[in-house]
Amino acid sequence: MKTLLKHTADQGIWLTRTQRPSCGHNDVLIKIRKTAICGTDVHIYNWDEWAQSTVPLNMSVGHEFVGTVTEVGVEVSNIKVGDRVSGEGHITCGHCRNCRAGKRHYCKDTQGVGVNRPGAFAEYLVIPACNVVKLPDNISDDLAAILDPLGNATHTALTYDLVGEDVLITGAGPIGAMAAAIAKHVGARNVVISDINDYRLQLAKSLGATRVVNTQRESLHQVIEELQLNEGFSVGLEMSGNDKALKSMIRHMSHGGKVALLGIPSQDIAVDWNQIIFKGLTIKGIYGREMYETWYKMIAMLQSGLNISPIITHHFDIHDFQKGFDAMLSGESGKVILDWQA
Ligand code: NAD
Ligand code: ZN
Repeated sequence: MKTLLKHTADQGIWLTRTQRPSCGHNDVLIKIRKTAICGTDVHIYNWDEWAQSTVPLNMSVGHEFVGTVTEVGVEVSNIKVGDRVSGEGHITCGHCRNCRAGKRHYCKDTQGVGVNRPGAFAEYLVIPACNVVKLPDNISDDLAAILDPLGNATHTALTYDLVGEDVLITGAGPIGAMAAAIAKHVGARNVVISDINDYRLQLAKSLGATRVVNTQRESLHQVIEELQLNEGFSVGLEMSGNDKALKSMIRHMSHGGKVALLGIPSQDIAVDWNQIIFKGLTIKGIYGREMYETWYKMIAMLQSGLNISPIITHHFDIHDFQKGFDAMLSGESGKVILDWQA
């Protein structure tokens, strides 16, 4: 089968052929229709330190996908051949304390599809049936291909009650921009998003952010005055992984404010703990998606009017995958879809 894999320890990714994976007793074989490129795939493309220490060479990568089930294992009863599906790319152990408590997103032995085991940038993908999510007909293939990052946005945005709140999102990448759409959809008052990239801020605006801030030109302090927020933001969603963004967020939170951290910093960050202590801030780390409440909530929100379509800015056939990675590397893209049906 055709597959995109990391062939050598250099920058790049290669379209080549490998053997179709076989379907175990509790697994499902999925014929991939569309995939989307994640920032993680760009790290693998660039073969940075994280990728070198995590990802084996000659393995298919990718984890954002939609496809059709073509085979089910003998023990599988809830999924059938022909079902249109996406799925959770975090494969959890199933027997640790958190897994058994139904908190599978806290499993310490999580394996990532396309990171620690063969991925979705391939004609066929095998995952456990319990990781598969069946799709309603009114969710398009394009949207289904980006449910994984929409799930990151949903998990983070729905961590705290946003109704009537003044929300600050730092980082208008695809996930930050989708979180802005969710915050508006569920009833936040102000949805302020910051970045240093104007293209991305415009994208976030088209998804529903009520005020965009390029922190290279404007300060959050001015924005707080303009919006008459008095104390600052009541909810913060950190989605950049950038140290300046995190420090600035903590400074601009109101007393009793709540912060959710999704962005992954590339090094240690020193923060002003006095701000956190004396303002009584709550800070929570967010990883992946809740299995499977996040999937339930995001699909329901899409069915009830959440519009994130503008986040998909590029489409390519799989043979033009290089153009897709170039678009991601340019910084002037939202989500990039690769079509495997050509
Ligand atoms: P992205 O890299 O496309 O977006 C990050 C954005 O932050 C960029 O637009 C960048 O310009 C912006 N930024 C840089 N410096 C900034 C600053 N000083 N202030 C404000 N914005 C700034 O990433 P994404 O795909 O949208 O993902 C968002 C973050 O979440 C990344 O850090 C990613 O690694 C992380 N992530 C975490 C999880 C998880 O499970 N915790 C899952 C997926 C992604
Ligand atoms: Zn576990």
